[in-house]
Amino acid sequence: MPDKTGPLGVNRYEGTPTRPIFGSILRGAALKCPACSTGAMFRRYLKEADTCPHCGEELHHHRADDAPPYFTIVIVGHIVVGLVLAVEMAYRPPLWLHAALWLPLTVVLTLLILPSVKGALIALQWALLMHGFDPDATEEEIVPSFDANLAQGSPRPCRLDFRP
Ligand SMILES: [Zn+2]
Repeated sequence: MPDKTGPLGVNRYEGTPTRPIFGSILRGAALKCPACSTGAMFRRYLKEADTCPHCGEELHHHRADDAPPYFTIVIVGHIVVGLVLAVEMAYRPPLWLHAALWLPLTVVLTLLILPSVKGALIALQWALLMHGFDPDATEEEIVPSFDANLAQGSPRPCRLDFRP
């Protein structure tokens, strides 16, 4: 069994993480590098920088996948549905006014929130030393090969890696 001790000798699964979780999430939500809080996390709207332009921290290891849209839907849904119900109960506007208000608001809120949610999730993975964010992880731990996964008798294959 591989050693699961983190960079400061703290067990990754039983001890306290060596990187601050809450502060990292806040830095990621502000679209900043979780390591230095200065460099920009994204080089385009939702495309993270491979490395931080300020401190050089590698940011390409994340596996945010579908989580940012999922959490964005949950957040925007709670905001918009709450507003729809409050306005309907208070003013009972016609349906065309509901559509004219809430559809654009939903689109705008989604586009505004999505990068921050993705940044926060990448920063959380960084803080928890997940995937390749652990400086002590071997290449096999970061991206286990399909053949190695099958050779170990895993019932399901690992996901494919599309990293450039
Ligand atoms: Zn940085």
